[in-house]
Amino acid sequence: MGKPVDRARPEALIARDASNLLHKYGTGGVIVSVASSAMLVYHAAGGLPSGSFLVWWVVMASALLVRAAYLVYWHSAVANAPNRDTAREIRHFSAGTGAIALIWAAFPVLFFSEITPATRSITAVILAGMAGGAATLLAPVRSLALVYIGLLLLPGSICFLLIGGSENTVPGLLGILCFLVLAASARIANSAAIQAIQLSHDKQQLLIEKELERKQIVSANSELRSLQIALEDANEGLERKVRDRTEKLLNEIRERERYEQELSRLASTDPLTGLGNRSSLIRLITGALSEGSPFGVLFIDLDDFKEVNDVRGHHAGDRVLAIVAERLTTAIPTGSELARWGGDEFVVVLRGIDSEESALNIASSLRQEVSQPIDIGGETVWIDGTIGISLFPDHGTTSDKLIRAADVAMYAAKQQRHHRVRLFDPLLAEHVAKGHFLGQCLSAAIANEELTVVYQPIVSSNNSRCVSMEALVRWRHPDHGPVPPNEFIPLAERSGDILALGRWVLMEACRQAAQWPGPEPPSVSVNVSAAQILAGYLVQDVLEAIGESGLPRHRLHLELTESAFAGDFDRVAPVFAELRGLGIRISLDDFGTGFSSLAYLQQLPIDTIKIDKIFVGGMARETKSIVRAIVSLADALGYEVIAEGVELESQRAALVTLGVGFQQGYLYARPLLAAAVPVWLHQQTGDLQTAR
Ligand code: C2E
Ligand code: MG
Ligand code: MG
Repeated sequence: MGKPVDRARPEALIARDASNLLHKYGTGGVIVSVASSAMLVYHAAGGLPSGSFLVWWVVMASALLVRAAYLVYWHSAVANAPNRDTAREIRHFSAGTGAIALIWAAFPVLFFSEITPATRSITAVILAGMAGGAATLLAPVRSLALVYIGLLLLPGSICFLLIGGSENTVPGLLGILCFLVLAASARIANSAAIQAIQLSHDKQQLLIEKELERKQIVSANSELRSLQIALEDANEGLERKVRDRTEKLLNEIRERERYEQELSRLASTDPLTGLGNRSSLIRLITGALSEGSPFGVLFIDLDDFKEVNDVRGHHAGDRVLAIVAERLTTAIPTGSELARWGGDEFVVVLRGIDSEESALNIASSLRQEVSQPIDIGGETVWIDGTIGISLFPDHGTTSDKLIRAADVAMYAAKQQRHHRVRLFDPLLAEHVAKGHFLGQCLSAAIANEELTVVYQPIVSSNNSRCVSMEALVRWRHPDHGPVPPNEFIPLAERSGDILALGRWVLMEACRQAAQWPGPEPPSVSVNVSAAQILAGYLVQDVLEAIGESGLPRHRLHLELTESAFAGDFDRVAPVFAELRGLGIRISLDDFGTGFSSLAYLQQLPIDTIKIDKIFVGGMARETKSIVRAIVSLADALGYEVIAEGVELESQRAALVTLGVGFQQGYLYARPLLAAAVPVWLHQQTGDLQTAR
């Protein structure tokens, strides 16, 4: 809102306006006074004044001059001054006016007696005229107007009356009457003037107020407008923010959806082959189940893939898997789906098959695709596959059962190497499933401390002295009880767990053998698998076991089956040659059961031949001849001979006669717990001493 109107001092404002009016018309009064006083004196003196007339006029002229100067000063310096003292101004003006009135009053008093009646009449007219003008000009200050009119009219009137005579009495009375009339009209003029001032002031005030109101309205309007603009701006800003935020949120949602899609794609994709993984396979089968039409599940496992990985490295293994995945993808019938189950295992969901035969045919053709040669960096890799088949609904009505049935069928096919494609058979399932299950438990067996090593003595045929203890691993499954090594060692060889298992047995055997008592404690014979040698870590493992246990090198023997040598002679032989070079002795286990070749036997880097127990069992004429032949062959090649599986005294005696230097079997001792070995050794030393 605007500034409040100043109504506090209206008298001061009225006084200011009154002062302005007085001073404004003052100049006219001065001019009239100068002219009329000059003319009066000229007339009274009858020409240019002299003497007292001149003095009067000089006084009058001087007063008027001072007044004129004062008025000039007022107009230039006071009228527009910011802080005016209007009471003082009016006092000064009144003083000047009073002085001039007194000079006028002095004229009749001084000169009426000596001037002519005509001059007196002229004087009366001039004074009446001057008084009449003053009634209006001095109206703003009533007292001043009254004083001025009084001074101009009353002394002259009195002088007229004092001179006497009818020609003077009438003007005297007229003068007094004139005074009364002018006094009354001065009073009316004063109130009119004050009213006019008041009105003009009110008008001005009104105008100011109006202007203020207008300004207030304008400013309120502009405030309103700027408020409106600010509101519009804020609104627009808010809308923009909402738009931006919405856009950002939408982008975030889209981004998140993309991310989730990518995540779920990655989560259901096998990165190596680009095929679906287990979870996507289960979704596929669940989808097929919901449709209700018959379909097949093919479980494909690559044969000897471990070997590719171990021998040629993981990079080559990955290439093989990728190539096989590509081949299978193009070979599967339209509508069917392929996924990677894990490792070297693939699963096909075979849609639209109408019979077991068609499933078997498709599986056979897929196997053929897998068994095509693969070129890896210029080298040809031969790989084969084994395929198990389960059918919906005959072999299961859930994805889990169907996959497990196909897996069991595959496992059964693996065990009978000549059947590489096999349909699930419920009768076989239990038997196969157990082996399969055990295979899966094996990797945890070492960590769970389910494995132990037992020791079976090998004694000299001459004096029954124990020369070595064969380390034989034992596995007691928490649910299935003891599992024979003939069952789980092949499983471990297939799964690759044999590496960890073999390393553990080696460490354990060396560690315990190093503790055995006596001046000449026996050696320890540890069985090793071909897979351990092919993996390339055997020498390193042996050195570690010897180093950590402190067992002298000559007290470590390694046993390897004949078939393992024959399988990959070129790669196995150098490893044993190296080990022999380190002072470790090598035995050829189960001799006579494998593909024996004299040509190989001659080149083998071995120290001992272990004749398999099948040749010891009966000791019939033919077997005796075979043993004799083996002994003479070994003699010729410089190898020692151990016969295993000696259970009877007759067998022992026959073997001695045949020249077999060392024997092992239940006749001497069953495999002993590690803790029982020192006791047995003590006892044996005692027995030997007694015998001597
Ligand atoms: P192997 O090396 O020929 O071991 C001899 C097997 O014959 C052992 O069976 C032993 O208990 C058994 N045996 C010993 N004396 C007699 C006897 O008088 N009569 C009969 N009937 N059998 C006798 P086990 O312990 O069941 O081992 C079977 C095979 O498992 C072993 O044959 C060996 O090839 C393998 N094996 C055992 N432990 C290990 C191991 O730590 N690593 C590897 N790679 N293979 C092992
Ligand atoms: Mg053995
Ligand atoms: Mg053996």
